[in-house]
Amino acid sequence: DALLEVRNLRIEFPTRNGTLVAVDDVSFDIKPGEVLGVVGESGAGKSLTGSAIIGLLEPPGRIADGQVLFQGKRIDNLPYEKLRRLRGAEIGMVFQDPLTSLNPLYRVGEQLIETIRTHTDMSERAARKRAIELLAEVGIPSPERRVDQYPHQFSGGMRQRVVIALALCVNPKLVIADEPTTALDVSIQAQIISLLKRLCRDHGAAVMLVTHDMGVIAETADRVAVMYAGRIAEIGPVQEVIKRP
Ligand code: ADP
Ligand code: ADP
Repeated sequence: DALLEVRNLRIEFPTRNGTLVAVDDVSFDIKPGEVLGVVGESGAGKSLTGSAIIGLLEPPGRIADGQVLFQGKRIDNLPYEKLRRLRGAEIGMVFQDPLTSLNPLYRVGEQLIETIRTHTDMSERAARKRAIELLAEVGIPSPERRVDQYPHQFSGGMRQRVVIALALCVNPKLVIADEPTTALDVSIQAQIISLLKRLCRDHGAAVMLVTHDMGVIAETADRVAVMYAGRIAEIGPVQEVIKRP
């Protein structure tokens, strides 16, 4: 059974003289524990699709048609508060810019603890312990010290590790990663991708990995959807799709 089902998704923007259809008739599913890669050129509609699934499509963009189901239930029509809860508890997110997920004004530990405590009944003390364990798990050295530092005190790669810890801290069933390494030095991109993949596997989370980088998909994904001009041009097992000329 599918964890996530996207059916005939259509995303529109109003324009001066009509409507721009940015995503059109996009359908796919993600099974529990699976890594689905979504590739395509810039402007193909990948990010809009990822954002729309989790209710973060920014106006004036809007879902004009289609449905999104998570564990068999529609989520495209949920009220804001319910979607927000779902994003914290069941669906983790990793974006290109770590500061989309991390608030620069709070210590990283505070943000992990706040997220853990919002979605579990852990005590402050237990949540802090869990936050330190998570930082260790994503490869942050000296986590007992780093837990009390602010996001700007981390390098880009380390900050993205913190974001991954934040995305995984309540054991989501799905992680949506949108160009998670594009802003990082090439030398650390592969490390972050393999970390993301390993951790999601360990935590039993499926991944929707949005990237323009076919190499990343070849290394990481089970299946791949190729988007072109707002549509899915091709979808299938990664070996089949990538083998084609
Ligand atoms: P990708 O992630 O594949 O690079 P996006 O999903 O970000 O592509 O965007 C797909 C297309 O949607 C863009 O090429 C553009 O035409 C349209 N689009 C995205 N954001 C906006 C916006 N804020 N206003 C108008 N059109 C937009
Ligand atoms: P809050 O009132 O706590 O900011 P939001 O619904 O804005 O509630 O945020 C819920 C989660 O979604 C947070 O983890 C936040 O970082 C993330 N989030 C909110 N808006 C965006 C966005 N436009 N892009 C990416 N992540 C977002």
